[in-house]
Amino acid sequence: MILEYSYLKLPNLFYELVKPSACKKPEIAILNHKLMQELGINTSNSQEILSFLQLAEPNPDAQTFAQAYAGHQFGHFTILGDGRAVNIGEWVQTEEKRYDIQLKGGGRTKYSRGGDGKATYKAMVREYLISEAMHALNIPTSRSLAVIKTGDLVQREMAFEGAVLPRVMKSHIRIGTFEFARHVGTIEDLSALCNYTINRIYPQLKTTENPAAALLETVMVSQINLVSEWMRVGFIHGVMNTDNMAISGETFDYGPCAFMNTYHPNTVYSSIDRDGRYAFKNQANICKWNLTRLAEALLPLLHIEQEKAIAIAQEIISSFDQIWVNQYYKTMLLKLGITELSLDLVELVNELLSIMEKLQLDYTNTFLSITYPQFLAEPNIRDEGFLTWRNKWENYIESGSGMATARTLMQKNNPVCIPRNHLVEEALDDMIIGNKGLFEQLLNTCQNPYSYDSISSKYMQSPEENFDVNYKTYCGT
Ligand code: AMP
Ligand code: MG
Repeated sequence: MILEYSYLKLPNLFYELVKPSACKKPEIAILNHKLMQELGINTSNSQEILSFLQLAEPNPDAQTFAQAYAGHQFGHFTILGDGRAVNIGEWVQTEEKRYDIQLKGGGRTKYSRGGDGKATYKAMVREYLISEAMHALNIPTSRSLAVIKTGDLVQREMAFEGAVLPRVMKSHIRIGTFEFARHVGTIEDLSALCNYTINRIYPQLKTTENPAAALLETVMVSQINLVSEWMRVGFIHGVMNTDNMAISGETFDYGPCAFMNTYHPNTVYSSIDRDGRYAFKNQANICKWNLTRLAEALLPLLHIEQEKAIAIAQEIISSFDQIWVNQYYKTMLLKLGITELSLDLVELVNELLSIMEKLQLDYTNTFLSITYPQFLAEPNIRDEGFLTWRNKWENYIESGSGMATARTLMQKNNPVCIPRNHLVEEALDDMIIGNKGLFEQLLNTCQNPYSYDSISSKYMQSPEENFDVNYKTYCGT
C-alpha cells in the first residue's frame, strides 16, 4: 500500500513536511469498508490500517505534509494553511484516479497559529455521517475513510475525546491555495501551482489556448454545478470561505454545515455567521464572489498585460449569472420532473418556493408530497395556493411527458432522507457515550436516500417546532 507525493514537486513554500502527532492509543471507531473497497485498499487488519494511516509507529519513509494556503474568511483576507490536518500522501488507483488522504485532527503544524491541531470525536463522527450522506445523494464531496479515536483528550469548553478523520479527496487545492501563491509567491510559483492543478485535476485543459483562463472557467462551472446541487437537497455549507472551496468542485470542510428543514431562503445555522453571509439563499452569490477572488489570483497568468488579463477575467466572471440561472433552474425543475427550461417554468419553481416560504413547509417533504402520491406527512399541503400551483404543475406534466415519466425523474432528484439536524444530534449524543445503534441506523438510511419503500417514517419527519430556531452549528470543534 504505497502512497505518492506528487504535490511535493511544487516549490516548498506550498507545504511543510510534518508528521502527524503521535496518538496515545489509536482505535478505529468507524471504518468505511465500502470506500476501502472502492479505492482498492485491501486490508481489514486494524494494525495495517493504522500503519497505512501513519498512526502507528512513525514511518521514516513517509513524506507527510501540511499544505499552505490563504483565504478570505467572512470577506477578510488571511494567511492560513493546514493547522489541524496532515496529508499522508496520494493514493493512486489509476493515473486518472489520484486521491489525497488527509488526516483531519492530525496534530499541530506550522500553520496552526494558536490552535491545538486536534479534533473531537463528536465533530469527526458528524463529518463522517454528513460527507457520506452527501456522497449517497450523488453530490461531489470529500469522503471519510474512518474515524479513529486517538485516546487523547481535546480541551474545548471542557475535555472531550479526540479523534482523527482520514479524508479522501481528488485534491485539497482550494481557491485559497491560489490566493496564497499570488500573495506570497512569485509568478513562477503561481504558474507552477496552476500547471500542477491542471495536470492533476483537469488534464483536458493542458492543450487549451489559455490554460489559466480555461481553469477559471472550468472551476466556475464545477462550483456552479456543486452549489446548485446543494440547493437541490437543502444543504447549507455554512462557511464558504475561499479556503473551503475546492478547485476540484467537491464539497469539503464540513464544519457548521446543516440541512434545512422548514424552507426559508434566509436559513443560517452557523453560530458565527451572524449576518447571514452564508445563508441558504446567498450560496450562489458567494460562489461568484469566491470565483472573483480566484480570478484575481490568476490575473498574472491570464495575460502578460494587466489590462488584458482583467478583461479576460471579467468576461469569464460576467458569464457566471447566466450559467448559474440555467443550472439552478435545470436542477430545480428536475425536482418537478421537468427536463425543459423556459421562463414560465422558472416561474413555476419560484411560485412553489414562495408558497413553501409563506406556509413554512418542510423543503424535503414538500417535494416528496408531489413525488409520491402516497406521502402524507405534510399537513399544510391542503392550502388553496398550493393546490392551485399543483394543478398547474400537473397540467403541464400531463400535456408533456406524462406523470409516470416525471415521477421516475423526481424520485432520482428528491431525497426521501436527509441527515436532519435533530436526528444527527440524537445519534451523535448517543455515539459519544458508546452506543452506536442510532448512528448506524441513520447512516444506513442516509446511504440510501432515494429509496422510499423501506424507509421508517422517523427519518422523514421534520423536527418539533422550535428545534431549528434554537439549533446552532459550530465550526471545527
Ligand atoms: P476551518 O474553519 O476549518 O476552515 O479552519 C480555518 C483555519 O483554522 C484553517 O487554517 C485550519 O487549519 C485552522 N484550524 C481550525 N481548527 C484548528 C485547530 N484546532 N488547531 C489548529 N488550527 C485549526
Ligand atoms: Mg477550512
